[in-house]
Amino acid sequence: MTPAELRALVRTVPDFPAKGIQFRDITTLLNHGRGLADSVAALADNVAAHAPDRIVGMEARGFIFGAAVAVHLSLPFVPIRKPGKLPVEALSVDYALEYGTDRLELDAGAIAKGDRIAIVDDLIATGGTALAAAELLRQAGADAVCAGFVIDLPDLGGAAKLEADGVPVSALMQFD
Ligand code: IMP
Repeated sequence: MTPAELRALVRTVPDFPAKGIQFRDITTLLNHGRGLADSVAALADNVAAHAPDRIVGMEARGFIFGAAVAVHLSLPFVPIRKPGKLPVEALSVDYALEYGTDRLELDAGAIAKGDRIAIVDDLIATGGTALAAAELLRQAGADAVCAGFVIDLPDLGGAAKLEADGVPVSALMQFD
């Protein structure tokens, strides 16, 4: 499918989760077999260019695309989790949300020092989530060699922040 056809499979839901927010919903893309396959293949091409050793994906939608990309490239997948989910010692990073903070956690033993890691998620907005993931990888002694997203919201500046942090960013489509 063309990039424009893939973009047309994303549903926009007004006023979710709060009034005035245009929520870009990828469940309609997931529900289209060809669209899902082509999105995963394009994401995999983008991250493969950076020769990663492993893929990480952030809970929860990053698990869908991250694991699919890992399977596509026959690479290992490591989940980056919300707090309190991992049954083993975890590295953690707190990050700011619009209201309050959140935390991401990573199994300290899942990644080797010096590993080249590709970050995969469905969408980058302010970049807070992806920057926290890159910081977790740094704590683990690994190198975040790239970040691949289905959707970039460039007006929110996250991709630019991640690039300024030294992580090259790719996305399959953009929305205002
Ligand atoms: P950021 O941390 O501000 O870059 O927000 C990115 C995270 O929030 C990702 O994990 C997304 O899944 C989620 N997110 C933010 N806005 C949207 C949206 O419009 N649609 C779907 N997910 C979103």
